[in-house]
Amino acid sequence: MAKYVYDFTEGNKDLKDLLGGKGANLAEMTNLGLPVPPGFTITSEACRHYLAEGAVPDGLEREVSEHLGAMEKRMGKVLGQADDPLLVSVRSGAKFSMPGMMETVLNIGLNDESVHGLAKQAGGNDRFAWDSYRRLIQMFGKTVLDIDGELFEHALDTLKAGRQDTDLDAAELQGLVETFKGIVRDQTGKDFPADPREQMRLAVMAVFDSWNAPRAILYRRQERIPADLGTAVNIVAMVFGNVGNDSGTGVAFTRDPGSGQQGIYGDYLQNAQGEDVVAGIRNTIPLQELERLDKSSYDELLRIMETLENHYRDLCDIEFTIERGKLWMLQTRVGKRTAGAAFRIATQLVDQGLITLDEAVTRVTGDQLVQLMFPRFDSGTEKKKIAKGMNASPGAAVGKVVFSSERAVELADQGEDVILVRRETNPDDLSGMIAARGILTSRGGKTSHAAVVARGMGKTCVCGAEELEVSIAERRFTAPGGVVVKEGDVISIDGTTGEVFLGEVPVVDSAVVEYFEGREPDDDLVRAVDRIMRRADEVRRLGVRANADTADDAARARRFGGEGIGLCRTEHMFLGERRQLVEDLVLASGDEERQAALDALEPLQKADFVEIFRAMDGQPVTVRLIDPPLHEFLPDIVDLSIKAATGETSEKQRDLLAAVKRLHEENPMLGLRGVRLGLVIPGLFAMQVRAIAQAAKEVPGAKPEIMIPLVAAVQELEAVREEAAGILADLGVEALVGTMIETPRAALTAGQVAEAAQFFSFGTNDLTQMTWGFSRDDVEAAFFSRYLELGIFGVSPFETLDRDGVGRLVRIAVEEGRKARPDLKLGICGEHGGDPDSVHFCHEAGLDYVSCSPFRIPVARLEAGRAALAECDSDTR
Ligand code: ADP
Ligand code: MG
Ligand code: MG
Repeated sequence: MAKYVYDFTEGNKDLKDLLGGKGANLAEMTNLGLPVPPGFTITSEACRHYLAEGAVPDGLEREVSEHLGAMEKRMGKVLGQADDPLLVSVRSGAKFSMPGMMETVLNIGLNDESVHGLAKQAGGNDRFAWDSYRRLIQMFGKTVLDIDGELFEHALDTLKAGRQDTDLDAAELQGLVETFKGIVRDQTGKDFPADPREQMRLAVMAVFDSWNAPRAILYRRQERIPADLGTAVNIVAMVFGNVGNDSGTGVAFTRDPGSGQQGIYGDYLQNAQGEDVVAGIRNTIPLQELERLDKSSYDELLRIMETLENHYRDLCDIEFTIERGKLWMLQTRVGKRTAGAAFRIATQLVDQGLITLDEAVTRVTGDQLVQLMFPRFDSGTEKKKIAKGMNASPGAAVGKVVFSSERAVELADQGEDVILVRRETNPDDLSGMIAARGILTSRGGKTSHAAVVARGMGKTCVCGAEELEVSIAERRFTAPGGVVVKEGDVISIDGTTGEVFLGEVPVVDSAVVEYFEGREPDDDLVRAVDRIMRRADEVRRLGVRANADTADDAARARRFGGEGIGLCRTEHMFLGERRQLVEDLVLASGDEERQAALDALEPLQKADFVEIFRAMDGQPVTVRLIDPPLHEFLPDIVDLSIKAATGETSEKQRDLLAAVKRLHEENPMLGLRGVRLGLVIPGLFAMQVRAIAQAAKEVPGAKPEIMIPLVAAVQELEAVREEAAGILADLGVEALVGTMIETPRAALTAGQVAEAAQFFSFGTNDLTQMTWGFSRDDVEAAFFSRYLELGIFGVSPFETLDRDGVGRLVRIAVEEGRKARPDLKLGICGEHGGDPDSVHFCHEAGLDYVSCSPFRIPVARLEAGRAALAECDSDTR
């Protein structure tokens, strides 16, 4: 029978799929002997069942009762019992952390009776008991009963009348409880549920439901977290940080998640509960000051942090509460960090002997490397600095100031760069944060919502710039010295230093890009990148080539570590001044005229190839013969028609118009292009092959590989290959001749195709289009967002190779191709070649190389190394 509930003593950190990250790590800490309150976890499997069937699975209630009973026995208290209540929290916790996206309810078990019992437990502390009760109704009302949280906030604010929440006394809080109960009655037509078990049952279902809350869906899509995982639920005995000033709650990191520096990073709030720290209710104090307030808890916390770092062998973040001098651990996980910190920490851990260099390679990702390749502000220019906050998430962002998420989305949709400025952010700001280039807040520390979410998304963020007076209502902020910045004004924020500048500050290449361009490593970060990249290069099996059409791109590709060109498109060799010749080619009325046009193109193309071969200096260059339909090179039909209608056309233009009409295709993607052109227009491919061969003769060591596009049948390939082989032999040039595999038929008949091909290169853009039967340009805007919403795919198949469909075709072609020709060379040249997950696929499928745009080469090198070290481990994100 299925088991849906695990006590903390039964789980461990590797059970994240089942127990969620929070539950798995609470179990791990429990088993390490750390002070964790007793508790148990309802599995994500139960959640999936509930979401699919609309009801909790059979037997769940019974299992929960058993585990609750054991917990009650152990604590010597019964849930919500009037004179001496056990209280619990009901906490969400999915496999991947989704900060603030889902729900948690604290103080479950309180009602009009047990509130007195709680006060008695705390030595007659009524204030604490009523404070806990009002928190329960507030959280329960908002998350379980779906009441607008503002209603509670407003009642609380009115009562506070400018005071702090800690200034409210017992009688006032008791009154607030009545007010809150009234709100519940008004909004739901029912009384706040007094039965503790009912409170718990409803809270569990609310947590399950929160998996599909709109903001959770949005966050998952942004972070590429699969939609069908569901969340686990943790039931944890309450410990109280709001009993008085000898109590409190805090969050901490074992290292700085911004820079990776070792030290003590965290925030603490006295006399407070759970959410207060992150929500910015009152100003937190730096964790270091806890030493003064409660030395023994502080020392214990530092010891635990060290234990956790050594155990997880990584940066951990933690949540803790101190109840009257006793420290409790409420959460830990391997913490999110900035891209720079990820590289620094990985190599620091190597130096500390905690992990190997190979592990360090697996600890960083290609996406993080991309982050580090973003430009930064030019240090050489004059800047007008108006404030400095905390460097919460690095990067350089420039944009127009907006003060609300709606406005951010609106302007971003119009193509504007915006900076979202808020006093602090909350989960409802997610859409604005996604739309913005950067985020600036005037309150909150490195553990605030803005900071955590921005770091997770790799978005530039400066937080806690306290000198700024932000007025959301007036849509402006004031900086020291009377500087007023209104909505629409441009600012620049530096998430690496925390600085805020007025106006647009120019950006320059990142130090990491300069390093790839050949500069010696001269700081910590670049040295860390250098060490990890070297190791990745040593261990990877996949070669990495570039998609490059010009000598400039080719040169950059080499500098970035490319080992050849996997796709040199020749389209541009028919553009510009040469369009003229293409027009002549199309209009040619006989063999002679056509050959004349081709003869004129040949030396021009040859010169292009010479440059590219020179730039690649002996590395292989895969040249793809012309691929797009010829009418793409002709003038626009509309222009021509207008001119024709007004009678301002030359004879040639009239002929062209006729040609354009004649060549018109309903579905050009599936029309006369690729190898079909080569077969229909005599001499076209021959001209290109000759140009390649002549260029190769001129550049010693050149290694051309000639690639035929859009082949579907071996017969097509045979026809053009014979001609090409003849030309190469005549000129005494050696070159491989191979084909793209980009039609499903080519993949399915790869055994035959390989008889005529010395190499395959998977053109996964076309292969994806043809396998799915949709054209990229038409579908991405039209309905992809709907498909993502419906979970038909978790990520666009144009971004990440679709393993099940397209990937299967690739595997078939690899297997049958190699069977027919054991030394068949295999590569991929679609845009997927630079996508981390797709690189892992290519490794697993046994390709020889990936080819991608020059800028993605470092990413592909790193991911190829990671793929070689471990099969794609989704936990390392
Ligand atoms: P999130 O995933 O949003 O961080 P959590 O489930 O961790 O939500 O809970 C929110 C806050 O409540 C955290 O600060 C947590 O430490 C606190 N909390 C949760 N359970 C308990 C408990 N049993 N006793 C005291 N505080 C708790
Ligand atoms: Mg938490
Ligand atoms: Mg193609």
